[in-house]
Amino acid sequence: MVNSIVSEKMKILPACRMKLRGGVNVLVAVAIFCFSLFPSGATPLARMALVQGGAGDGLGQDRPRWPSGDGSATTQKISFVHVSDVHAHYNPVRGGSSPVARLRGYFEQVRRENPYTIFTNAGDDYEKGSIAEEVSRGMVTREIVKAMKYDVRTIGNHDFAWGIDELLAFSRDPFSIVLASNTKMTVDNSGGQPARLPGWTDYAVLQVGQVTIGFFGLVSKPWNEKDEQYEGEFYPGMPGLRSDFDFVGVARDIIAKHRREVDLLVLVSHLGIEEDARLARETQGIDLILGGHTHTVMSEPLRVKGTAIVHAGAWAENIGRFDIEYDLQQRCIRHSAFSLIPNREGETPVDEATEREVEKILQSYQGVLYDDFTHLYADQSKGAMAMLAARAAVETLGVDAAFVGLNTVRKEWRRGGLTKQDVFDVFTVEREPAGTPGFTSLYRLKITGEELARVKAALSESAYWGPVAPRPEAIYTIALQKAPALHQREYFGRRIGLSAPEPATELWDVLVRFASERSADRLSLDEDGPAGQGYRREAAYQGDGGGSPGRVAVD
Ligand SMILES: [Zn+2]
Repeated sequence: MVNSIVSEKMKILPACRMKLRGGVNVLVAVAIFCFSLFPSGATPLARMALVQGGAGDGLGQDRPRWPSGDGSATTQKISFVHVSDVHAHYNPVRGGSSPVARLRGYFEQVRRENPYTIFTNAGDDYEKGSIAEEVSRGMVTREIVKAMKYDVRTIGNHDFAWGIDELLAFSRDPFSIVLASNTKMTVDNSGGQPARLPGWTDYAVLQVGQVTIGFFGLVSKPWNEKDEQYEGEFYPGMPGLRSDFDFVGVARDIIAKHRREVDLLVLVSHLGIEEDARLARETQGIDLILGGHTHTVMSEPLRVKGTAIVHAGAWAENIGRFDIEYDLQQRCIRHSAFSLIPNREGETPVDEATEREVEKILQSYQGVLYDDFTHLYADQSKGAMAMLAARAAVETLGVDAAFVGLNTVRKEWRRGGLTKQDVFDVFTVEREPAGTPGFTSLYRLKITGEELARVKAALSESAYWGPVAPRPEAIYTIALQKAPALHQREYFGRRIGLSAPEPATELWDVLVRFASERSADRLSLDEDGPAGQGYRREAAYQGDGGGSPGRVAVD
């Protein structure tokens, strides 16, 4: 594997280091012409110890990924084609291509221009995109990421979403080097099973023509059900996993161990732009940070001391390209340039092989992606949609009342047909903490009427479907979203309920169930008349409490 190749190489390093020390002054002098501040110690001898053009064993490749290069050349171009935070945005547009087949298509185009091109991804491939991921519980996203054949990728916080087994399967990529230098599976907690060990690695070296490039990757902190980043070593529910969030410390260790072995040191980071800048400020020796996480779109790289930081936005909307002209004699970067390329249907070239793979993986999900399964009589405001979700919860979960926060609604619906994907686009899921239900999911809770009145007052900004005047002594089952359900003191001033809240389901799921039942009765989602025929709006009825639901307007 990659690590063993690297350690083989380290055995021959002392001689190279000696040579480097002698040459430092010369390298400092040429730094005026070459703006790499991190002269490399890699020599032709050291480079020969590396696997030519490959990422190590297990890639199933019979030819090198990059040509070995011209020994007499004085410079070599290296191009990075970089994306991050794709967030499952791979559904092909109707009658068109998949956005990710275009990412690969652009990479192939650059590679035709420069064979020394590296395809990188800084993580967050899962969540907030295709409903096919939700229905397949992660599998579709994993398969599609592998079909992309990235050269190097790192893991993002959203990639932990589906729990440890999915994460481990995701990390075992036959084509790509997967990096997570600050995250370990401890042998203790993996039960000593080799099969449970992750496919990611701390550090890897690629021989790209005449240039030796070291890569490491960093994973951000986890997030909780209040959609807040938190301090903590563990991803809850993943006891085998331990992450080190002293990013600067981890980077310094890698630099101390490996900087002198390579011409270029690249961090593929899921830390976000601020952390990337801090890391570049507080370390010395990283040439390039290919970043992600903050969905930052930039038109030129951020340069901090000698480090270039590059981000390329999110949702497969843009592609970052970073070109380096590497001086093979002085061993430094002579010139570099960044461009941000929009990924557009009809403009960006499509990689046909990836397109066919994506189609194959999505074959059994065509119905949820493209078929109208319900209908809206009128355009819906966000408030009206939160209300529909609350009503859907009451009618499908067998509860007496439900609360849905308006901040849960991501966009508005237009009148007409809706697919299940359309429902999901509005009520997306972010499993926070990782491996648990989404932070907007619903929890079931039995409470007294007196407590229901308290909850109604505390959540007066939420959409509410349920009794208008709860009877204080009656017992009600309610559906609450995860944050108020699990942080009752913060929201209601004290603990409520006759028992602990229990996870019910995700919001999109209650809407799909509710809409499907109504479609079966030829009713549109938003009206109480036959679907699509514009029947009069039925007056909202109000219950008197004790189980019969009434409607309280929020907007
Ligand atoms: Zn992220």
